[in-house]
Amino acid sequence: MKPQAFDYHRADDLADACQKMTAGEVRPIAGGQSLGPMLNLRLARPDALLDVAILRELRGCQRITGGVLIGAAVTHAEIEDGLVPDNTGGILPRIARGIAYRAVRSRGTIGGSLAHADPAADWITTLTALGAQVILQRPSSRGSARRRMYLDDFVTGAMQTALSPDELLIAVFVPDVAADSRFGYFKLCRKTGELAHAMAAVFCAATGDGQRVVFGALPGAPLLLAGGDALDQASWRGALAERYPDMEEADITVRLHVMNKALKRSQTHEQ
Ligand SMILES: Cc1cc2nc3c(=O)[nH]c(=O)nc-3n(C[C@H](O)[C@H](O)[C@H](O)COP(=O)(O)OP(=O)(O)OC[C@H]3O[C@@H](n4cnc5c(N)ncnc54)[C@H](O)[C@@H]3O)c2cc1C
Repeated sequence: MKPQAFDYHRADDLADACQKMTAGEVRPIAGGQSLGPMLNLRLARPDALLDVAILRELRGCQRITGGVLIGAAVTHAEIEDGLVPDNTGGILPRIARGIAYRAVRSRGTIGGSLAHADPAADWITTLTALGAQVILQRPSSRGSARRRMYLDDFVTGAMQTALSPDELLIAVFVPDVAADSRFGYFKLCRKTGELAHAMAAVFCAATGDGQRVVFGALPGAPLLLAGGDALDQASWRGALAERYPDMEEADITVRLHVMNKALKRSQTHEQ
């Protein structure tokens, strides 16, 4: 199928982009790796697309106190290739490398992935485990209208986020991962390039901030368990059953298996 006709906008800078977001139904497009198919299937029918991949303000990376800010339009491939300062001891490039194929990674962006909020996407699950935040910007005639949210607040459901229709995701803040922290990730896919059927991430901070486990690829937003119970099998089962009372036992078993794999990887530093 072909997309419905749409206009295409470019912007000189972020302020100009924010203004353009207010003119009718305008959808930002970054790598087009998820929006492209949605346009073709007419699941998205915007009046116009705004190209955010070319915005200078969304392309940079910066070390700041406590972490790194990664511009929303930075591609998975750039993270894979080490072009972004890695404050995670290799976690970021490792996750990037596992996303689809190189062709997808060369176009797809970290911001596009988070804004799309596919439950089976790699960044959402892993960055939730790491306690990352998103920086959002909307147009304002009275100074900055910027807000910052933890990912677990930002993703509100499957393909649903807290983004307002006129708001842009401009950056991701990834907190520093202290040496001796432990991280494990596992996803179940039938073949490379296919979105996962189940995924899980485990993060135990060496700084004493406790442990965080995240179930991804669920029917809704990622499920985060933090604190003392986070590595307790009974807690995992209880949390899944509470969120999804109708989930089949087989589906729960698969998810527990995947979480156990992620936990083992976190303990053995296996990749
Ligand atoms: C064959 C294939 C296999 C894939 N496999 C995987 C995989 O294994 N793991 C995985 O995680 N992902 C996978 N993906 C998805 C891929 O990672 C995409 O790159 C990602 O989902 C979307 O990024 P994008 O930059 O292409 O966003 P786009 O497609 O351009 O946009 C996606 C959505 O985000 C919005 N958006 C984009 N940028 C912004 C912004 N700055 N502010 C606000 N909204 C914005 C758009 O309006 C749209 O709604 C796969 C994709 C394909 C085509």
